[in-house]
Amino acid sequence: MSQLHCPFCGARELQEFEFRKTRANVTSSEFARVYLRVDSLELSVEYWQHVHGCRTWLLVERNPSTGAVLRVAALPAVNGASK
Ligand SMILES: [Zn+2]
Repeated sequence: MSQLHCPFCGARELQEFEFRKTRANVTSSEFARVYLRVDSLELSVEYWQHVHGCRTWLLVERNPSTGAVLRVAALPAVNGASK
């Protein structure tokens, strides 16, 4: 994983993005949700931000074993600022 595809800016180098948090897998145990950073070896759902670009928060699904990015989507605005 050397690039991420921002929905607004296109493919950019990974240095432009900042990892924020791994989203807990709803099917994992309570222990795993609290204490383990990666829910599965096949799928990790993570929040990233394009800090050196459009500053959009992204939902990134990737395979932590291979580093392959499966899906990137922009998070919707929660405060209605985009209206
Ligand atoms: Zn961007």
